[in-house]
This record gives sequence, C-alpha cells and structure tokens, in this order.
Amino acid sequence: RVLGHGHARSLSSDTDFSGIKERTLVAVKPDGVQRRLIGEVIKRFEQRGFRLVGLKMLQASDKLLAQHYVSLQRKPFYSSLLYYMTSGPIVAMVWEGHNVVRSTRMLVGCTDPAEAAPGTIRGDFSVHVSRNVVHASDSVEGAEREISLWFHRSELIDWEGCDHKNIYH
Ligand code: ADP
Repeated sequence: RVLGHGHARSLSSDTDFSGIKERTLVAVKPDGVQRRLIGEVIKRFEQRGFRLVGLKMLQASDKLLAQHYVSLQRKPFYSSLLYYMTSGPIVAMVWEGHNVVRSTRMLVGCTDPAEAAPGTIRGDFSVHVSRNVVHASDSVEGAEREISLWFHRSELIDWEGCDHKNIYH
C-alpha cells in the first residue's frame, strides 16, 4: 500500500509495517565496525531514500544472538557465528520505507560474498561468508521479530522527512 504524504502521517508506527511504513533491521556486524564501514553502510540507505528510525551501537549478548539466530541453531557454523557476532560492537539500525525489506536485501547482496553482485555492500566489501559485514532481515515478519528483539519501542522515532513528496508522490 502506497499512501500519499498526508495519509502517511496518520498511520501508527507501532502497528503498521506495510507499504511506506515497512521497516527492516540492518546491522553493521563486528567486522564492519572494525573496518570503519559504518558510514559507508548508512550512506547507501540514506542516498536510496529510506528513513532511519532507530540507531545504536551495542555489544550483543549471547542471549540476544541466540534469539536472533534461533533458526540457525543446528547449523555447523552456529558457534563460530556467535563468536564472530560477540567479538566486538555492532551498529544496529531500523530503516523504513516502501518495500524496504526487499530493497535492503538487494542493497546488501547474497549471504555468500562470492555470489554477491558488485555494487552491493557484501559484493563491494567482503570475501568470506563468515565475515560478511552486514545483517539484513529477510522478510517483513522476520523484520518485525528482529526489530522487537534489538530495539525497545521507545528507541524508534517516527519523524517525517522534508523530502517525502519527492521520494514518493
Ligand atoms: P543472511 O545473513 O544473508 O540472512 P543466513 O541467515 O543464512 O544469511 O545466515 C546468517 C549469517 O550466518 C550469515 O550472514 C553469515 O554471517 C553466517 N553464515 C551463513 N552461512 C555460513 C557458513 N556456511 N559459514 C559460516 N558462516 C555462515
């Protein structure tokens, strides 16, 4: 659902994740932070026209990561994934916009950097699947689940960009 400028304002940011109000979780993983790629990642989402509604740096706990990667618990790389993800600070953010989940997966590129197209974040900045710089939610439902794990509702700010009418209609 694509809504006009006037309507978007009246939607509740807490409950409506469809259309323009769709949200996704993006995280610069510890290797991305160490390699000073935070700005590079943010730049790509900003220049695309998405809206940043939450941002923080944190040292992720084992508990948070166990919940975040619950579907990967039986994978052979699970323990090394948790070691990697707790090896240093992470920058977590929530981006909002029309089809932001799908667009973000395109911006980020395939999980394995060897498959990630040049121009994508992983395709431009990584070599190995175990150090692939960024996380991005893979579905709207997954994004809602992950955002509620990583952010408290009060940490998400619903603001209106002055360029809204130029990006939408
Ligand atoms: P994505 O992060 O693209 O959604 P997955 O959810 O499948 O991909 O995997 C989560 C993360 O686990 C990947 O981003 C990557 O860091 C790590 N990972 C996935 N597959 C492997 C693997 N074969 N070896 C090591 N790490 C892996």
